[in-house]
Amino acid sequence: MDRVVFDASAIQKAVNAIGVRISADYRGKNPLLVGILRGAYMFLSDLSRALTIPHTVDFMAVSSYGSGTSTSGIVRIESDLRINVEGRHVVIVEDVVDTGLTLSQLKKTLEARHPLSVKFCVLLDKPTRRKVPLVPDYTGLTAPDAFLVGYGLDYLEYFRGIPYIFSIKPELVQSEPASR
Ligand code: 5GP
Repeated sequence: MDRVVFDASAIQKAVNAIGVRISADYRGKNPLLVGILRGAYMFLSDLSRALTIPHTVDFMAVSSYGSGTSTSGIVRIESDLRINVEGRHVVIVEDVVDTGLTLSQLKKTLEARHPLSVKFCVLLDKPTRRKVPLVPDYTGLTAPDAFLVGYGLDYLEYFRGIPYIFSIKPELVQSEPASR
């Protein structure tokens, strides 16, 4: 471990604040929250409990290819939604937005299915690393340019269950496909 970047109470405060905003913005709209597996599972679970409005939840698993900690923007859908997004207000729930390539690609994919709207909700934003202009509609915490794990985020599938977010040293991060 390098250092703790966000402790459990900072994360819960950020998630609850997003919950308040989404509950206000989507009152009467029955939004569909789309969690991107696997990194967003813990965030979506807490966010769903923070909402005070009716909503539905579904998941997509995608893989983005690239080297080490970056993605190429080529997004492959490994597992698709079960719920039809046509005529729905969709909120894509993602763990981290880094280059923005994954989310911008996903938005195009979902918009082709004729939803009423598509918005982005991310727990962590790394704005300095953007390769495409993308500003999330809901952001929990602004993150430093470091490789982060914990609270759903993995390194080689480990550390997802740790209830806080910490950085790991760059020399530990090998050249592997970005995993979720
Ligand atoms: P983007 O397409 O925005 O560059 O990539 C976003 C994806 O890259 C995230 O969903 C996540 O899977 C991965 N990613 C980006 N930064 C981190 C990080 O600091 N830690 C982990 N574990 N994954 C990250």
